[in-house]
Amino acid sequence: MQSLTLANGREIPQLGYGVYTMTSAEVEKHLPEAIAAGYTHIDTANAYFNEVAVGRAVKASGARREDLFITTKLFPQSYPYEQCSVDIDASLERLGTDYVDLMLFHQPYGDYVEGWRAMEEAVDAGKARAIGLSNFPVHKVEQILEVARIKPSVIQVEINPYWNQHALKKALAERGLADAVFEGWYPLGHGDEALLAEPVFRELAEKYGKTPAQVVLRWHIQEGNVVFPTSRNPEHMAENIDIFDFALTEDEMARIDALAQHCYYTVPEEAPAFVLARNDYSKQA
Ligand code: NAD
Repeated sequence: MQSLTLANGREIPQLGYGVYTMTSAEVEKHLPEAIAAGYTHIDTANAYFNEVAVGRAVKASGARREDLFITTKLFPQSYPYEQCSVDIDASLERLGTDYVDLMLFHQPYGDYVEGWRAMEEAVDAGKARAIGLSNFPVHKVEQILEVARIKPSVIQVEINPYWNQHALKKALAERGLADAVFEGWYPLGHGDEALLAEPVFRELAEKYGKTPAQVVLRWHIQEGNVVFPTSRNPEHMAENIDIFDFALTEDEMARIDALAQHCYYTVPEEAPAFVLARNDYSKQA
């Protein structure tokens, strides 16, 4: 496993296990399988309604807390300053842990500017080791940077070979976030068969004796991205983590970077209805 170093000096494993779209029962079945397969990095969110199951599965796995990197995220209803610290505590309680390795604001709407102070206080209190932003466009990251005492050290956005985010990485580096770590969601295209069927991935898979999915994940690693593909299939789990014994050449990386760019999901400027819905996270299996 390869790691990157966060601004706080701590290591973040570059390949992890995401539990978006997984029910609590699925998390309890598959997360211990992933941990047994060697995964130490888990990406969840309060809005996934499976933090309690993540906590139970981690305990059941027997893994030591200090050997795991756990991320959760807060949805916008948690951003108002007073609410934010309450909801950070509630996530920790659901996860059954005293701290998360990374806490993110999940969506770029609502009171994220005032809420950032509560995130910084969570770092001061040792409840979050690192803090960052997910799905924030440049101008909203700038609003955070104007007030930040602790800068976001992780930016989680859609990244895959069809949406490599080179422009966003450059724009944020120019705004003082050159040391931020980029995490990519939809790393394998969220199950899009057309991505894995691209001739360049088939050809490189053949050359290296790997699968197209492994070539895509290897591209992420060499791009410096952190990724956590979702899988309920133990064969895929084993495959996805087995990408540290080969390397793509510069020319091969350039061929992948030359794929036509389009995102799967455009983050709207104004909050969509699903983000404004009030969620009761205490009700989960
Ligand atoms: P993904 O690109 O990981 O795709 C998952 C799909 O790929 C599943 O259908 C799975 O069966 C398939 N797959 C996995 N391994 C494979 C393999 N080796 N070969 C072929 N198919 C394989 O997309 P995702 O699951 O949506 O995203 C990954 C993680 O990113 C989520 O679990 C979550 O943690 C995070 N995420 C964050 C946000 C956000 O807004 N911050 C949004 C989406 C996802």
